[in-house]
Amino acid sequence: MTDDTISQIATPHGTGGIGIIRVSGADAFRIAREVFRPVYGDLAEIVPYRARYGHVHAADGTVIDEAILLPMRAPHSYTGEDVVELQCHGGTVVLREVLLRTWEAGAHPAEPGAFTKRAFLNGRLDLARAEGVMELIAAKSTRAAHAARERMAGALSTEIAAIRMQLLGAIARIEAGIDFPEDDLPELQSTALTEDIRAAAAATQRLIAGANAGRILREGIKTVIVGRPNVGKSSLLNTLLGMERAIVTDVPGTTRDVIEEEIIVAGIPLRLLDTAGLRAAEDAVEQIGVARTEEHLMDAELVLAVFDGAAPLTQEDRDLIERLHRVTADIIILCNKEDRTAVLDASVFDGLNAPVLTISAARGTGLDALRETIAACIAAMEGDLGDGALPNKERETEALRRAADHLAEAEKALAADMGTDFVSIDLRAAYEILGEILGETVDTDLIDRIFSEFCIGK
Ligand code: GDP
Repeated sequence: MTDDTISQIATPHGTGGIGIIRVSGADAFRIAREVFRPVYGDLAEIVPYRARYGHVHAADGTVIDEAILLPMRAPHSYTGEDVVELQCHGGTVVLREVLLRTWEAGAHPAEPGAFTKRAFLNGRLDLARAEGVMELIAAKSTRAAHAARERMAGALSTEIAAIRMQLLGAIARIEAGIDFPEDDLPELQSTALTEDIRAAAAATQRLIAGANAGRILREGIKTVIVGRPNVGKSSLLNTLLGMERAIVTDVPGTTRDVIEEEIIVAGIPLRLLDTAGLRAAEDAVEQIGVARTEEHLMDAELVLAVFDGAAPLTQEDRDLIERLHRVTADIIILCNKEDRTAVLDASVFDGLNAPVLTISAARGTGLDALRETIAACIAAMEGDLGDGALPNKERETEALRRAADHLAEAEKALAADMGTDFVSIDLRAAYEILGEILGETVDTDLIDRIFSEFCIGK
């Protein structure tokens, strides 16, 4: 399946200083000889890991580009195969021409994720690590990048492998016990088996607990800014972003649609949604905005509720407070316009169980305290963050849950003296399922699907 040689542009689409064409497979060195001519010497012998300067040329000998050739010999390459990289000028047209030239010389177009898939199939990385590669590329914050690096280094894989070892140990105990005349294990063995199963179950649960943190790191926290018109929501968003994004005016109701932006607080992306003011909308466009705000409020993870601290509470404010009582997300109350005389009595927020901060969105005061409060909320949401061993794909979390169910069944069967066969079946099932996360026990369709989500050239 992987005996053909593939090539693709490995650098992002667009223009840049250099662009790289990667060629991988048994024919990579031959293709290099065919399309590349060094300025000094020849390519009769390609010395791995030694860069050569020269030209990529067309079949008729005309020069396509100046380039550096970097050859890597199997198995010491990203894919585990012979690889050559051609560093060319980073223009879309020239890269395309060089790519076509490699295809003309016998390489096949590499599908998205094809290089990493080969690395996986050649045993260079397991599935959990391969996905770390994609996460690193997609990481939007330093913490997400850190978690991705940990995953690439095998943090999740190692923990999964340890649980599987434990399960194998337990299965071995049962098999040793099969020599005993009755279906019962001797007391001592049975206790040890229970302990093994419990330890494996606890370790699995710990990983499941990290799933939320993994998702937060990847996707960020959905944060909704609400408040009646003119309290300063857009100003707050702008100040947090440090740039003009939403339109700030003093005509009530100007933020008609929902604006989404992203800021990083405590290493976590916050997906900030500035919403149309919640009030009885006067026209159709605004009505849609208000309805959407209501929806966003219901599936938000964090709500920044803004009030005008320099004005008495209005009916709309009271309606919002009423709504906030029904929100499941964490709430932070912000009394804005602290540069003016305070009028609002903060006791109206009693009973919401939310921190109340005074800020001035326009002047940028009180924002450090706000960031700290947000960071504390995030820390509580993440729970006890394991370092790096964070399952964050739905596929992984779901597999962990299934494995945990089987372990619970195994423990029950053992406690109920149902016979070791029952225990063994569930332990084996859990073992297999955990293997899916590493890609050991998954079928090729799933492998294809996972890698097809990777970017082209990786
Ligand atoms: P929104 O409708 O809630 O998005 O409110 P805007 O952000 O558009 O602000 C409404 C008005 O309040 C604008 O005139 C802002 O300049 C003003 N404003 C916002 N924040 C402050 C503040 O901290 N102090 C004062 N004095 N005015 C503010």
